[in-house]
Amino acid sequence: MDAFFGGAAGGSRGPRPRTRPGADAILRLELDLNETAFGVEAPITVDTAVLCTTCSGAGTAAGTHLATCEACGGRGEVQSVQRTFLGQVVSARPCTVCQGYGTTIPHPCPTCAGDGRVRTRRSLTVKIPAGVEDGMRIRLAQQGEVGPGGGTAGDLYVEIHERPHDVYSRKGDDLHCRVTVPMTAAALGTRLTIKTLDSEEVVDVKPGTQPGSTLRLRARGVPHLRGTGRGDLYVHLDVRTPTKLDADQERMLRDFAKTRGEEVAELTKQGGFFSRMRDAFNGHA
Ligand SMILES: [Zn+2]
Ligand SMILES: [Zn+2]
Repeated sequence: MDAFFGGAAGGSRGPRPRTRPGADAILRLELDLNETAFGVEAPITVDTAVLCTTCSGAGTAAGTHLATCEACGGRGEVQSVQRTFLGQVVSARPCTVCQGYGTTIPHPCPTCAGDGRVRTRRSLTVKIPAGVEDGMRIRLAQQGEVGPGGGTAGDLYVEIHERPHDVYSRKGDDLHCRVTVPMTAAALGTRLTIKTLDSEEVVDVKPGTQPGSTLRLRARGVPHLRGTGRGDLYVHLDVRTPTKLDADQERMLRDFAKTRGEEVAELTKQGGFFSRMRDAFNGHA
């Protein structure tokens, strides 16, 4: 048989095999930060082609066999010879009767209609390791599409999509969050209880803390995917200026400013300011 196919004119490669490897499949998996950080066993539903169990991939009805294609004699292609002004041109085209297989299925399997595979929905569990990041893909070997004729299944890639978190934003394995601190607490210092992904930490805010300051909580971020250890948690401090002062509070704040020699614009009767900023600007110009 090999000699027969090999001997065909025009560099024939013979009929194409009915059994071919299957394609890879990809599936999107949405996870919360806690799941990507610490890992999870996630149930997934996969819609792919699987092996037809009726015919075990052969494509033929029970008790029947493939038949050699009569149109191409089993070669899978037909040759035509054309006479042109350049001479004889021999061309080979895939046989349209057998689609190039060289064989036909006289009695196809009733379950898969000869394809050797059927589409079905499966439930799997995918083990997500701790520390995965948005966009990463987990490969499940041979859980993809089964190939035509029951060919080896391709791989299934599970692509991780991390849902945005209410509190933490993630940069690599580091986490960032914002905490509001009243102006007085920033000036006098305070103690904060910070909720991390998996614990609560008590941290001190030093007296005289400036707006935009950052506290770094080591190893309170996301565990590293490779190796040991964890990223850090950065707590960004938003110093909040009071927006509504009653008469007493305003007076105390003005007295406070006076003791520090800090200039404060006086309110006019119309509710505007006597601008001292302009004076200061002119003074420096
Ligand atoms: Zn079948
Ligand atoms: Zn044929």
